[in-house]
Amino acid sequence: MSKNDEVVINNKWIVSNRGKKNIVDSRRPYGWLIEKERTASGKIEDTAIIFLTNSECPFHCLMCDLWKNTTDKPVPVGAIPDQIEWVLTQLPEVKHLKLYNSGSFFDEKAISEADYIRIASLVENFDTIVVESHPKLINEKCLRFRDMLKPELEIAMGLEIAHPEILKKLNKQMTLEDFSNAASFLNKNEIRSRAFILLRPPFLSESEGIYWAKKSIDFAFNAGVECCTVIPVRAGNGAMELLMKNGDFSLPNIYSLETVLEYGIKLHTGRVFADVWDLGLFSSCKKCIDQRINRLTTMNLNQTIDDQIVCTCDSAKPENGF
Ligand code: SF4
Ligand SMILES: [Zn+2]
Repeated sequence: MSKNDEVVINNKWIVSNRGKKNIVDSRRPYGWLIEKERTASGKIEDTAIIFLTNSECPFHCLMCDLWKNTTDKPVPVGAIPDQIEWVLTQLPEVKHLKLYNSGSFFDEKAISEADYIRIASLVENFDTIVVESHPKLINEKCLRFRDMLKPELEIAMGLEIAHPEILKKLNKQMTLEDFSNAASFLNKNEIRSRAFILLRPPFLSESEGIYWAKKSIDFAFNAGVECCTVIPVRAGNGAMELLMKNGDFSLPNIYSLETVLEYGIKLHTGRVFADVWDLGLFSSCKKCIDQRINRLTTMNLNQTIDDQIVCTCDSAKPENGF
């Protein structure tokens, strides 16, 4: 861990280093896409993701840049179902839908409970609905929403990292116990959960980043989640650039993502995915980057270990954890 970690990381410092938000329209999602994903039943199927335009998340996690596409004030009741309805008229037929709202689906200030019935009716033809939530906002509300739904509900939560002190520095405002309690509440109520896990958050070396991402997968599965998604940490929100400048944060390497994904898949405990968005950021070798992205994508879909890529850049690989 870096010795130069005396910056006081709190909401004020994180927000003060931010740039401007993008202009968004509360009647329209700020994006949507379709991607292939391996389902819990083992099939590879198309999943639609709608990036809903919503109010800013009240938590201000150190590494988060989702605030960029949010509104300053709560969106009116009806706006979220309107956004979903608008996208659904354009979507090809898919069985699974992720509703990501740049915050917590179960935050009353983000999505009013008054909207649940209409949302449930809009999504009734899907097999699965995935929403995201801060673990501290997991409670009976999730059950009320689940009970209105025809599709199966899955809830994604940020564990981020199972290192208690680093988790505290991420300003997530939760403990590992909060995460375990949320996962166990969902399990008890037969709601599937997935954990987002960070690869190399600030204040960790590359090998510590690998080690703690593996530990975090173990922690999440032990807590009862069914699926883990490993996300290599990026800069881009102001605070992370400053930490980078101070030597407290460096981008992880794509080799480390491969190592952690291999580890998670080999556990055979649940699905483990690597986030493959914009992976060019995490490699300086143009010769093998496309092959590595293909390898990660194939491993995500098949949940088996593909042959290692051999390249002249192999000598730059970090150690596999410590
Ligand atoms: S809880 Fe999620 S959306 Fe909210 S600031 Fe943290 S990472 Fe971002
Ligand atoms: Zn290479």
